[in-house]
Amino acid sequence: MSEKIKYLSLSGLEPLLIGPNSNFINVGERTNVTGSRQFLRLIKERNFTEALEVARNQVDGGAQILDVNMDEGMLDGVEAMTTFLNLIASEPDISRIPLMIDSSKWEIIEAGLRVVQGKSVVNSISLKEGEAQFKHHAKLVKRYGAAVIVMAFDEAGQADTYQRRIDICKRSYDILVHEVGFPPQDIIFDPNIFPVATGMDEHRKNALDFFEATKWIRKNLPHASVSGGVSNVSFSFRGNNIVREAMHSAFLYHAIKNGMNMGIVNPAMLEVYDEINKDLLERVEDVLFDRRDDATERLLDYADSVKDQKKDATETVLEWRSLDLQARITHALVKGLDAFIVEDVEEARLSVQKPISVIEGHLMIGMNVVGDLFGSGKMFLPQVVKSARVMKKAVAYLQPFIEAEKDGKQEFAGRILMATVKGDVHDIGKNIVSVVLGCNNYEIIDLGVMVPPEKIIETAVREKVDIIGLSGLITPSLDEMVYISKELERQNIQIPLIIGGATTSKAHTAVKIAPHYQHTVVHINDASRAVTVVGDLLQNNNAVYKSQIREEYDKFREQFLNRTRDKEYRTLEEVRARKFKINWNETTISKPKQLGIQVLQDLDLSKLIDFIDWTPFFRSWDLHGKYPEILNDEVVGKQATELFADAQKLLKQILDEKLLKAKAIFGLFPANTVDDDDIEVKQVLNETDEIKNAKTFKFLTLRQQLQKRDELPNFALSDFIAPKDSGKQDYIGAFCVSTGFGTQELATEFEKNNDDYNSIMIKALADRLAEAFAEYLHKEVRTKYWAYAENENLTNTDLIKEAYKGIRPAPGYPACPDHLEKLTIWKLLNVEEEIGVKLTESLAMWPAASVSGYYFGNKEAKYFGLGKITEDQLKDYAKRRNISENEARKWLNPNLAET
Ligand code: SAH
Repeated sequence: MSEKIKYLSLSGLEPLLIGPNSNFINVGERTNVTGSRQFLRLIKERNFTEALEVARNQVDGGAQILDVNMDEGMLDGVEAMTTFLNLIASEPDISRIPLMIDSSKWEIIEAGLRVVQGKSVVNSISLKEGEAQFKHHAKLVKRYGAAVIVMAFDEAGQADTYQRRIDICKRSYDILVHEVGFPPQDIIFDPNIFPVATGMDEHRKNALDFFEATKWIRKNLPHASVSGGVSNVSFSFRGNNIVREAMHSAFLYHAIKNGMNMGIVNPAMLEVYDEINKDLLERVEDVLFDRRDDATERLLDYADSVKDQKKDATETVLEWRSLDLQARITHALVKGLDAFIVEDVEEARLSVQKPISVIEGHLMIGMNVVGDLFGSGKMFLPQVVKSARVMKKAVAYLQPFIEAEKDGKQEFAGRILMATVKGDVHDIGKNIVSVVLGCNNYEIIDLGVMVPPEKIIETAVREKVDIIGLSGLITPSLDEMVYISKELERQNIQIPLIIGGATTSKAHTAVKIAPHYQHTVVHINDASRAVTVVGDLLQNNNAVYKSQIREEYDKFREQFLNRTRDKEYRTLEEVRARKFKINWNETTISKPKQLGIQVLQDLDLSKLIDFIDWTPFFRSWDLHGKYPEILNDEVVGKQATELFADAQKLLKQILDEKLLKAKAIFGLFPANTVDDDDIEVKQVLNETDEIKNAKTFKFLTLRQQLQKRDELPNFALSDFIAPKDSGKQDYIGAFCVSTGFGTQELATEFEKNNDDYNSIMIKALADRLAEAFAEYLHKEVRTKYWAYAENENLTNTDLIKEAYKGIRPAPGYPACPDHLEKLTIWKLLNVEEEIGVKLTESLAMWPAASVSGYYFGNKEAKYFGLGKITEDQLKDYAKRRNISENEARKWLNPNLAET
């Protein structure tokens, strides 16, 4: 064909280009009231917050387009569609993907088209109500600039044979392209996926006809795409997931081969094609291809035999062992099973001339399957990290042979430097991204944590890396990243930068980094995005992509700055007059039962288990949702359950073998607010210490400056402590806990065994234990040491929600963003000497699994965000701290997240 390639180009905040060689595109459909009872309930209850969570889960789960449907008798569909799409528009992590506006009512579709941003897909139009109506709708879709799904449906009904499918699609295509002037690449046909094996003769060819019609469409209707809802095909096997999963993946496998390039698939309801039990697969394919008269009965027999039976692990093990070599290697990689990998790799090695060919052949073939499954949302992060473990084991086995034969180096798709910047010690996210990129055949040079800028740049140049990835968790790291970008620019080095880590953001990247670096800078906060972005950056030195990124970030910066510019702030003097006022005369202040400092050198870790908040644990593995509900989540539930089981196993080992050490120090002291915003603390060391002899320390707090409505105060943490001139003696606490001792050693041990999975797991668990320790200790303080809440009786869920009296703000967090406060806490408690937790030059705590903060006991005390502070407060603060304004700016700098 002489036709030029035309891309179906869709977009949310980010573009999605679909061409003839694109992977299968996955449409998320949980945001559909006709398909999900849960979503329907949320919309009916107008619980849009959770409804958005459903959407977010879809995106996180790998959906590349999001289908939204509000067709329900009891709903005002127009209103619901408008509201929901508007809400999505303000959630950049959801609206980055294109939307599919799904309704059988034109007015709802049009309502969606009016508010949607980017280029969406209308689902759907058809000839059902005649040509005039069809053309009318098509013209409107075209005018709104959307793509369209065309159902194989005409005046006589839905197409249910091969001939009717192709006739209707052809007729629709001709009208659209030749009469309406619709771009052919914007047409997506849905040639109807209907159930098979229903027992009715007229359904026997349903799948086959779909395959053939798909093939015909792709061949004869240039540039058009083909889509469909896959789960329909297994409708008659509802309740039998083993058979359904096999039917879905076999159907998909053949449909894709015939040209279906898009569709609605539930990744949790999909078995890997090569993994389907051979007998089952044969019976499924007999049905799909209508290969024998008794195909349906035979599949039903099989279904009966597996009913209520969980997949038998041992049986599958034996079974996959009888596959051919490549299939076994692929299976081991996809399933993350390492028990036989050395054996299989050895067999592969003996079958080739050069050992390196096993990496480039057998292993790469397997890893490409992993990459495709992950890229299309059918595999999740923890599984990929397990795959990497198998891969590493295999490569480690081959290495001596490769060296012995000096048979050359492995060819990589690109070389990437990864580093956590100077002063920062956090590396879970960075390690995950490295593993995932490694799985995609990139060579990773990982410089570890606390890497000085000179070392990063020098290594990048010497090793001729293709991309530099910088990671950091605490705010001072943002400054480091800015510095590195300036240095790269100054030294005229042109290597794309990717930025990631908890405090980093697109705003920070666009506003603070991009302007200093003429070359490409991209912000990435999840591992699956990293693969796409790196791929796009490196493919043919993709100039178009790079200029798109530049444009996107320029625009983002402008919008961001405009938005912040619009906000109004009050002067420091004004906001001090607007402080939050507690009536101290009517407040009873409880004196701590035990004043002074206490140390816990080796707390029994098992005391912490009940205090663990698991939700952030799943988030660190890119599985989003609340614990425990996440374990039953439709999309990620299976993965979450498996991950959780692995975590429990390692946790048990940590407890049984005392692998980590939990240490804490905390103190309760007399304190009063002085000079508006400072808290004067008396370092009494024990009960008998006299206040007047005690050394004085000062906590410096910052005050909100945003203009607020009259009745709303401008908070500073000092408002929660009685001022000196009230004549009342008040109290404050400070603490540091750590469960990180031993983590690094264990992680290194795992890494030596090529086990990144457990190396990341141990860090994630140590973090959880540290947070749990903070929660545990806070309770001890409230009920025993300070004892202002002796009779507190809260469940663990209440504790995780922090539904108690008193707070424990942490320096570096929104109410007190200045990490310098940690220096005061360290001196006040003598933290380093007593329990060994150190501060890096950026004031990150080492070991990483540590938490520190203050205790405020007043019942009015609550968390707030500081927001932006203006120059007058910055100046005042620099003076109070006795540092230069520039220094102050550095530490208080990135209140950028605040918009
Ligand atoms: N259960 C979670 C809790 C950690 S974050 C976990 O296990 O990860 C909650 C803590 O962050 C609070 O207890 C407090 O120490 C800190 N924090 C939250 N909001 C804050 C704010 N606005 N200012 C200061 N510290 C804050």
